[in-house]
Amino acid sequence: MSTTYELYEFRKLIKELKNKRGRGTELISLYIPPGRNVYDVIKYLRNEYDQASNIKDKLTRKNVQSAIESIIQRLKLYKKIPENGLVIFCGAIPRGKDRGTEKLEIYVIEPPEPVRSFTYLCSHEFHLEPLEEMAKEKKAYGLIVMDRGGAVLAILRGANYRIVDEVTSDIPPKHSAGGQSQRRFERIREERVHDFFKRVGMRANQAFLPLGDDLEGIIIGGPGDAREKFEEGNFLDYRLQKKIIANLPLSYTEEQGVRELIMKAEDVLSESALYKEKRAVDEIFTLIAKGSNRVVYGLREVEEALLAGAVEKLLLLEDLQVKRVTIRCTQCKYEESKFVRPEKGLKLESWECPRCGSTTAEVEEQDIIEYFGELGKQTGAEVIIISANTEWGNQLKAIGGIAAVLRYELHGY
Ligand SMILES: [Zn+2]
Repeated sequence: MSTTYELYEFRKLIKELKNKRGRGTELISLYIPPGRNVYDVIKYLRNEYDQASNIKDKLTRKNVQSAIESIIQRLKLYKKIPENGLVIFCGAIPRGKDRGTEKLEIYVIEPPEPVRSFTYLCSHEFHLEPLEEMAKEKKAYGLIVMDRGGAVLAILRGANYRIVDEVTSDIPPKHSAGGQSQRRFERIREERVHDFFKRVGMRANQAFLPLGDDLEGIIIGGPGDAREKFEEGNFLDYRLQKKIIANLPLSYTEEQGVRELIMKAEDVLSESALYKEKRAVDEIFTLIAKGSNRVVYGLREVEEALLAGAVEKLLLLEDLQVKRVTIRCTQCKYEESKFVRPEKGLKLESWECPRCGSTTAEVEEQDIIEYFGELGKQTGAEVIIISANTEWGNQLKAIGGIAAVLRYELHGY
């Protein structure tokens, strides 16, 4: 998965579930692997239902049993457990301070990756770790930035890199005393270089091998020729050695070198989520610079283009601080929608229905990314969520955090 709208939604749901707490030990998490027999799972739950009759606290007992009952009812709708298994969360979530304000909530999720093992847990919170694992950016790149002075190892995942190790060297600088002592000095120096390369190789193996199949490739870079000698000498484990996809000259070492390497490796990283985002934002600004009519930005403009079915590619900033609010007249059902920035809030006191004059209305709030994401999905647009706190995220933020490339030129703006 890259930063698609589906992944965004999945992560958002996990975040919401994470904030839910039960009053007692009464929230149920159920992970069912693919291939399980639905009837066996129901039988298991019936047994748990009976066990729950031993719970001393009357309300907890009632809440646990009705949660199990709800899960069984849902499971009965399935003839077969779906391809990746099924994850169900169910429990009484408090609405107010007092005991008894709980309402039963149930979430049935078909996960994006297979559930590995059957888990049934009853706790004061939902058990989310296996889902969180699935929501992680999987593709990783191992980065090695080095010269004879030292090496830095980093892992690049999605739009973020992390320094994982640093290897120092004790190679003396070259000098030119000449004669016998110079030859001896050269030999010692060669040994130390070899020793340093060996250590870099070992530490890289430790850092990158555990990534297993998630590791897409190894990228090496640095000033001077150490980076080339290191690759030629096969100091990496053969599994990593064959994953080297680039070896690039750099001006910098250390963390600055890591950043330089990421920018320079654009071609080989072009399939990664990072560059998908960067390229998409670049395209928007190129079109704007050309004065093209195939680009729009801003909430209203993009909404209009989406409703016209004209959007080919939709870019949304991950932390867009806007809500879509729908006001519905309780008398005549007239409704209107607004985009509201939370810091400004919505002034409802002065609202008056333009159709019937009533001043009572109900208000519905919607997550902005959900609103635009769904519109995009329905009209066949490619939806790209742009990471905040990146260089391109900030560029997009500067034009309102939302932009679109159109299938054709739109007129009349
Ligand atoms: Zn009205």
